[in-house]
Amino acid sequence: MRLLVTGGAGFIGSNFIRYILTRHPDWEVINLDKLTYAGNLANLRDVAANFAGYRFFQGDIADPDAVAAVFATGIDAALNFAAETHVDRSITDAAPFVRTNVEGTRVLLDAARKYKVPRFIQVSTDEVYGSLEPGDPPFTEESPLAPNSPYAASKAGADLLCRAYHRTYGLPVIITRCSNNFGPYQFPEKLIPLTITNALENKPIPVYGDGQNIRDWLYVEDNCRALELVLLSGQPGEVYNIGGGKEIRNIDLIRLLLKLLGKSEELITFVPDRPGHDRRYALDTAKITRELGWRREYSFEEALRRTVQWYVENPGWWQP
Ligand code: NAD
Repeated sequence: MRLLVTGGAGFIGSNFIRYILTRHPDWEVINLDKLTYAGNLANLRDVAANFAGYRFFQGDIADPDAVAAVFATGIDAALNFAAETHVDRSITDAAPFVRTNVEGTRVLLDAARKYKVPRFIQVSTDEVYGSLEPGDPPFTEESPLAPNSPYAASKAGADLLCRAYHRTYGLPVIITRCSNNFGPYQFPEKLIPLTITNALENKPIPVYGDGQNIRDWLYVEDNCRALELVLLSGQPGEVYNIGGGKEIRNIDLIRLLLKLLGKSEELITFVPDRPGHDRRYALDTAKITRELGWRREYSFEEALRRTVQWYVENPGWWQP
C-alpha cells in the first residue's frame, strides 16, 4: 500500500501516520504538507527515524504542479487532512480557508481523477452540520449541511465537491466527519492543549461567553482507528460520522483539566463570546459501528489523563 497523507505534519495527520505505520510497517506513506504555522515536522521525528516507508514532501495542496509531482509517483489511496482548521482565524480572514480547504481539495480531486487513484478519503468535520440545541437528537450522515463559521463553510464546500466528483465522475471518494479531537501533538491554540499549557504556566485560561457550549470529544487514536477501517472497508460515495460519544460543556471540561493538573479554578477568565459560536455538537455514530464494526477503545477520562500527561512530559514540544 502506498498512501498519500496530506497535512500529515499537523495534529491528526501526524497521529494517523504514526498509527498506520506502526500497524503496517511495510506500507509506504507520503506526507504532503505545506508546513503552515500548524505543521511541525517535530511531530514526526520518531516516525522519520523508525520507518523506512515514510517520505515527506513540502508542498501546497492548492498547487497543481506540486500535487501532480506526488500523484505521478503512483498512489493507492489518498487521505486529505490538509486544511486551515482554526475557527477563530477563519473569522479574522476567510481567504486562506477557501483557498486551502475548497480549492486545495478541488486540485487533489482532479489529480485523483487524472491518476485514477483507487480511494480518496476526505477528512471533514461535524461542524458542517451547524449547531444543535440542548435536547436535539445528534447529527446523522443525513442531516442537512448548515455551517455557521467560515471554517465550517469551507469544509462543507469541500464535502460537496467530493460528493459531486463521486456522482459525476465515479471518483471513489469517502467522506469522514469527526467531532472535536484531542490528544498528543495538538497545536496549543485549541481548547484542550491551550487550557493545559496555560495552566502549567499559571496563565489565565480564556473561556468564551458563558462556557456552556457543548462539544463531543473524540480521542485522536480512536479517530485513527476509524480512518483505518474506512480506508480498508468503507464504501465509495458514503459519509461516515466519527464521534466521541462524550458531550461536555466547555466550562466543565476546563474544570476537569484543572483538577487533573492540581491547578486553581481562579485561572478561569471569561472573555466575550466568539461571533456565531455554535452551541452544541453531537454525532450519531451508529452507521460506522454497524457497517465497519468501529467502536471507541478509550474512555474519555482515560484519554484525557493520557493527554494531560503527554503535555506535562513534553514541554520541549509545546513551549516553542
Ligand atoms: P492542524 O491545523 O493541526 O494541521 C493541518 C495541517 O495541514 C498542518 O500540518 C498544515 O501545515 C497543513 N496544511 C495547511 N494548509 C495546507 C496546504 N495548503 N497544503 C498542504 N498542507 C497544508 O489540523 P488537524 O486538527 O490535524 O485537522 C486535520 C483535519 O481534520 C482537517 O481537515 C480538519 O478540518 C479535520 N478535523 C479536525 C478536527 C479537530 O478536532 N482537530 C475535528 C474535525 C475535523
